[in-house]
Amino acid sequence: MCSSPAVRQTATSRSAEPVVIAGGGIAGLTMALTCHQVGVEVIVLESVRSIAPLGVGINLQPNAVRELIELGLGEELDAIGIEATEWALVARGGNDVWSEPRGRRAGYEWPQYSVHRGELQMLLLRAVNERLGPGAVRTGHRVTGYRNSSDGVVAVVDTRDGATTEVEGSVLLAADGLHSAVRSQMHPDQPPPHWGGQILWRGATLGPPVRTGASFTLIGTMEQRFVHYPISRPDPETGLQLQNWIAELTVDTSEGLGASNWNEKVNTDAFLPEFADWTFDWIDIPSLVNDAPAVWEFPMVDRDPVETWVDGRVCLIGDAAHVMYPVGSNGASQAIVDARVLGAHFIEHGVGPDALGAFESQLLAPMSELVLRNRGHGPIGILALVDERSGGYFDNIDDVIAHSEIDAYMSTYKAAAGFAIESLNAAPPTIAPGSRVTVRS
Ligand SMILES: Cc1cc2nc3c(=O)[nH]c(=O)nc-3n(C[C@H](O)[C@H](O)[C@H](O)COP(=O)(O)OP(=O)(O)OC[C@H]3O[C@@H](n4cnc5c(N)ncnc54)[C@H](O)[C@@H]3O)c2cc1C
Repeated sequence: MCSSPAVRQTATSRSAEPVVIAGGGIAGLTMALTCHQVGVEVIVLESVRSIAPLGVGINLQPNAVRELIELGLGEELDAIGIEATEWALVARGGNDVWSEPRGRRAGYEWPQYSVHRGELQMLLLRAVNERLGPGAVRTGHRVTGYRNSSDGVVAVVDTRDGATTEVEGSVLLAADGLHSAVRSQMHPDQPPPHWGGQILWRGATLGPPVRTGASFTLIGTMEQRFVHYPISRPDPETGLQLQNWIAELTVDTSEGLGASNWNEKVNTDAFLPEFADWTFDWIDIPSLVNDAPAVWEFPMVDRDPVETWVDGRVCLIGDAAHVMYPVGSNGASQAIVDARVLGAHFIEHGVGPDALGAFESQLLAPMSELVLRNRGHGPIGILALVDERSGGYFDNIDDVIAHSEIDAYMSTYKAAAGFAIESLNAAPPTIAPGSRVTVRS
C-alpha cells in the first residue's frame, strides 16, 4: 500500500517561494490541490496553451478514489465516472475465463471509477481554479530545465510568446509526463522510451451496455487483445453509453517505434482486419471500432526505472517518475497517490529536500518493481496460459485452468500494485483532515 501515515504538525514553511509544478496533468493538478489543502503556495506551469479534455478512458482504483474524496471531490467524480462493479477476463473464443467484483462490491470502502481522462483533468482544473484562483495554472509555459541553489530552485521556462523566463520556487515537482524535460536533465543518459512491440489503438463509441453495464472486460491473448469498459452512464432516452475500447496487437519491433504521443489520430486499417471475426453474442467488436468518431494510436511504452527521482530540490512524480505499461490500471491512480504521499511528507518534513527524499524512499523501490512487473504479463498472464492450453476455445473453463490457480495469481498482482483490500481499508488517511505544513526545512 502506497500511503503514508497521517501527520498533523506545527511552524512555518521555510521559504516564501511557492512549490513549482511542471505539468498540469492528473499528477500536477492533484499535487496543486494537495499543496493548497496543506497550506502551501503553488504554481503550475503547463506547456499547452489551453488545457483541453484529451484522451479516452482511464480507471481509478479505490486507493486513488479515496484520495480524491478526501480532497472533497467525491460528488464531482461520481458525476463523471462510472462505478466499476465487475472485472472480467474473456478468452479469444468469447467465453469467460474469470470474473470478479470490483470496487465496493469487492469489499473496498471506496469505489473504483472508469472515467474519461479529459473530463477528470477538467474536473481537477476547475477545482484548482476555484480554490487557488485562475492565476495558479500558467498555460503556454514549457519547463525546459532547472537550476538548484542551496535554498531554492529555478525552473527555466519557454513561454508561448517565444520568451525564456525563470520561475523561482522552494521545490520543483516534475509532473511533466512520459517525455519529461526535467527527467531528461536529471538523467541525461537515460535511454529512449522502452517499447516491447505492442501498439494500442484507442477509441470511445456510443453503444448499448455490455455485460453489467459497468464491467471492465479484457478479451484475447498476449499478442492480440481488446479491452472494453463504459465511461458514461446510459443516456436516459437512448439507453446508450460511451464505451471506451482499446485494441492491441504485438508487431515486429524491427519496424521501429512510432510516435508515442497520446493524441496521434489514425484510421483503422492497421488493426481492424485482425479483429474482423471478433463478434460474439454479447459484443460486436468490429462495429464498436467502426462506429468510433476517432481512433488514436499509441505504441505501448514505458521507461527503465532510474536510481533516483530527486536532485536537490527537484523531484519527479507521476509518469515522469514511473511511467508504466497500462496493463493494470495504475498510471493515473498512482499519479494521484504520489501527490498525496508527497503532501504528507511536506507536513512531516517541511517543503524541501527532506520531504523529497522521504517520498523517494517510500515509493521508488515499489514503483520500479511495478514498472518491470507490468512489462511482464500483469493480469493478462492468465489469458496467455489459457490460450496456451486451449487455443482460446473451450466449453468449460474448469477443464482448462483451476479457479484456485487464477485466484492465487490475481492476489499476488493486486498486493504488488498496492490495492489489497484489507490494508487499504485499514490505512489511516494519507493526510489527516486539518493538517497543515508548518515544519521548517
Ligand atoms: C493528452 C494526453 C492524453 C492521454 N490519454 C490517456 C488515455 O486515454 N488513457 C490512459 O490510460 N492514459 C492517458 N494518458 C496518460 C495518463 O494521463 C497518465 O498515464 C497518468 O494520468 C499520469 O499522469 P501524469 O500527470 O503523470 O502525466 P500526463 O497525464 O502525461 O500529464 C503531463 C502533463 O504535463 C504537460 N507537460 C509535458 N511536458 C511539459 C513541460 N516540459 N513543461 C510543462 N508541462 C509539460 C503535459 O501537457 C500534460 O498536461 C494521456 C496523457 C496525455 C498527456
